[in-house]
Amino acid sequence: MKNLISILTLLLYFNYSFAQHENECSKKRISALHNNYTQRVQYYQYESMNKYDVKYLKLDIAAETGSNNISGSALTNSLVKQSLDTFITELRSTMIVDSILINGDRKLYTQSNDHIFVPLSPAVNSGNYINALIYYHGTSNSYGVYSGTTSNGLNYVATVSESFQAREWFPCKQILTDKIDSADIWVTTSNVNKVGSNGVLEGIDALPNSKVRYRWKTNYPMNYYMPSIAVGNYMEYLNYAKPAAIAPDSILIQHYFVDDSAYFNSIRTILDMTPAFIEKQSELYGLYPFSNEKYGHSMATIGGGMEHQTMTTLTNFGSAVIAHELGHQWFGDNVTCARWNDIWLNEGFASYSEYLMIEKLPSLFPSNNPASYMQYFHSSAMSAANGSVYVPDASVYDENRIFNGRLSYDKGAAIIHNLRFEMQNDNLFFATLKNYQTAFKDSVATAEDFRQIAENTCGRSFTDFFNQWYYGEGYPTINITYFKPNADTILLLVNENTSAPTVTPFFKGLLELKINSLQGDTTVLVNLLANNQVFKFAYKKNPNNITIDPNNWVLNQTGTIANEIILPVNLLSFEGYADNNCVFHLQWKTTNEINLVNYELEYSNDGLNYTRIASVFPTFLNNNIYNYNYENFNSKPAYFRIKMIEPNGNLIYSSFIIVNSVCKANYTLEIIPNPVVNELNITLQLAEKEEITIRIINSIGQTVTKMKKSLDKGFNNWTIYDLNKLAAGTYLLQLETNSGSTLNKMFIKK
Ligand SMILES: [Zn+2]
Repeated sequence: MKNLISILTLLLYFNYSFAQHENECSKKRISALHNNYTQRVQYYQYESMNKYDVKYLKLDIAAETGSNNISGSALTNSLVKQSLDTFITELRSTMIVDSILINGDRKLYTQSNDHIFVPLSPAVNSGNYINALIYYHGTSNSYGVYSGTTSNGLNYVATVSESFQAREWFPCKQILTDKIDSADIWVTTSNVNKVGSNGVLEGIDALPNSKVRYRWKTNYPMNYYMPSIAVGNYMEYLNYAKPAAIAPDSILIQHYFVDDSAYFNSIRTILDMTPAFIEKQSELYGLYPFSNEKYGHSMATIGGGMEHQTMTTLTNFGSAVIAHELGHQWFGDNVTCARWNDIWLNEGFASYSEYLMIEKLPSLFPSNNPASYMQYFHSSAMSAANGSVYVPDASVYDENRIFNGRLSYDKGAAIIHNLRFEMQNDNLFFATLKNYQTAFKDSVATAEDFRQIAENTCGRSFTDFFNQWYYGEGYPTINITYFKPNADTILLLVNENTSAPTVTPFFKGLLELKINSLQGDTTVLVNLLANNQVFKFAYKKNPNNITIDPNNWVLNQTGTIANEIILPVNLLSFEGYADNNCVFHLQWKTTNEINLVNYELEYSNDGLNYTRIASVFPTFLNNNIYNYNYENFNSKPAYFRIKMIEPNGNLIYSSFIIVNSVCKANYTLEIIPNPVVNELNITLQLAEKEEITIRIINSIGQTVTKMKKSLDKGFNNWTIYDLNKLAAGTYLLQLETNSGSTLNKMFIKK
C-alpha cells in the first residue's frame, strides 16, 4: 500500500534574535529561499518499510562547498520485524545508485518513485538483520542540500532534512517512529574545510590530494531527519557548559562559523550565552540529553536554524534562535513527535524555551521583559480567529501547515505558558517536563502522551484544557462588569466571546484580574467554569478599572470593561402553569446566587397587590432550578413574581408572570329535591368569597327568574321559593360568577 501525498515545500525556521525582537514586531521565520519553491512534489511511503527497524547508519560521503553534489555510500543495519521479500528505502531520483550489497552480496535493484527496491530471495525472516550498503552519487535538489557563499566569505554546503528531505541526500526511511540507534557520519572534503555533524568527532584523517576526512560518531538514537552535515571554511570556537547534575564534568560546545575575526567578535557574546542556556535548560528539563557527546553550531545559509541533534545548523547567530534550537535537543530530538499532527511537542516547546531563557536568565537580557516577549506570541496567535495547534490529519503532509508559525510555534508556546499557569505550581510544571523527557527518552510521543504525563504529575485532568486550547480553535475576548454592592465587597461579572465559537464556544480556566484603584491595585484569581459567572471578593477600595490578565498568562483579548449594577442573582427563567386540579406549578432557574439572602414568591389577583406565598433559600450553586406548587381555586388569571433580597436589605423584583387558570373544580353545586314542587334547596362550595348571578331559564331559553347573591368562601346554602308559579316542565338553574364562569344544573318542575 502506498500513500499519495502532495506537499508544498517548506518554511521552517526563524532567524531573529532577542535584540531584534525589541525593535521588530514581525518575526521572519519563513525563509525567502524556501519561499522560492513553487514546485509541488509527490510523496510516497510504503507500508512494508515498517517491517524493519533501522538500528545503525553509516554515511561515508564526499562533499565540497558551493556544490550540491554528494557521493559515497550509506550503510544501514536493520532488524527485520516481519518477513521481508523486498527491502525498500527512500532516495530521490536525482541521486543515482551505483551498486547495492545486502549482507555482503551484490543485489539487483530498481529505482523508481524516489524509492529503491531490492528484491530479497529468499525472504528475510523476522529476527534477522539486513545489512544494506548503497553506493550512490548525484547533485541534490536544493530542498535538502544548501550550498553557496555568504557576503562575509563563508563557503558552505549543508543539509536540512526536516520534514521529508532526508531522501534528497541519503537513502533513508522517513518514518518518525523508527529512530536510528547509532550512527557514524564520515565526510571527505578539501582540507581548507571543517565539517560539523552529529555526535563526537572521533578523528580527522589527512588524505591525498589535499583532502581530509572528518569522522563523527553518535551513540544516541536519532530520528531520520537528524543526520546532518555542514561543510565550510570554518573557524572553530569552543566553550563548555557545566550543568550542576554532572559537576565537575562539563559538556563541550563546538561552534563552527565563518573564518573572520570581525564576525567572531560580533557574535562572541552570543556564543558565550550557550553554556548558560545549556545549564539552565538542564535544570528546567533534566540534564542535556546528549551530555556524553557534545553540543554545537555550524553556520550555513539555510534560512534560519535547524536543530540537528548535538549540532544545530544556523544561518546567523542570535540569542533567540540559539535558545530555540537548544530547546529542541530535548523537545524534538530526545523526544520527537510521533506524528506530524503533534509538531507542537517540538516547536511549541522550543519556542517556549526562548521565553524561558529571558525569564530565568534576566542578567543576560537586561533589556527584555518576559511578559512583553509572551505578548509577541499572543499577538501572533491572535492575528487570525481560527486554527488549532493540533495539525489536522488532512494537513500532515503539508509543510506550510505543519510549520505554521502562528499556530505550531506562537500559539503553541502561549498554551504551554497557560498550562503552567493552570498548574499554579512551577514545581509541578517543570516536573511534568522532566517526567515527559524521562518517559519518552530516545523515543517519540504524542500530545496525548504529554497530557497523560501532565495529569499524572499533577493529579488532575487537563482534558478541558487540551480540548479548548490544543484541539480547539481561537481565543476568548473577555468582558468585565464590576460593581460594589456595599463598602466592603466587589462583584466581578466575567463574560466571554470566542473567536471561533462553532469550534470552541467557551474557554474554561484560571484568569487573573487586576482591580485598579488610586488606593492601590489588587490582583485576584478567578476560575472560569461557565459564561457570565459573578465573582465576589472582599474589597474596600474604590475601583476605577479592571485589567484583564495583567501578566499575560492566558491568550485573550480585552473586550469591554464596565462599572454597572450587577444583580444579586442571575434569574435565567421564571415560568408557570395551572393544572386541572387548580394547582399552579411555578419554576424558576438561577445562576450566580452570589449576593442573595432569600427568595420570596409573591401572588396577586390583580397584578397590583401582591402577597407572599413562599420563602425559599438560595443554594449558592450554579444553575439552580426551584420548583414551587401553589393551590388556588380561582378561575381568574394569577400574577406571580419573585422578590430577591440582598444582604443589605435591598429588594429586587423579577418581572411578573401571568398564569391563566384552567381550574374547573372550584365550585360544587347540589340541588334538592329534583323534581321540585315549590322550594329548591341549593348548596354551593366556593374557594373564594364571590357575588354570583342566579338565573332560571326555561326550555326555550327565556330567563324566567334572575337574582344576585353575595356568597362566602366554603359552603353556602339557600332556598329559592315560589317555584309553584312556574309552569310544569324542564328548567335550567344557571349560576354565573364574577369572572363569567357558569355552572348549570337541570331540574324538573312538577
Ligand atoms: Zn524549531
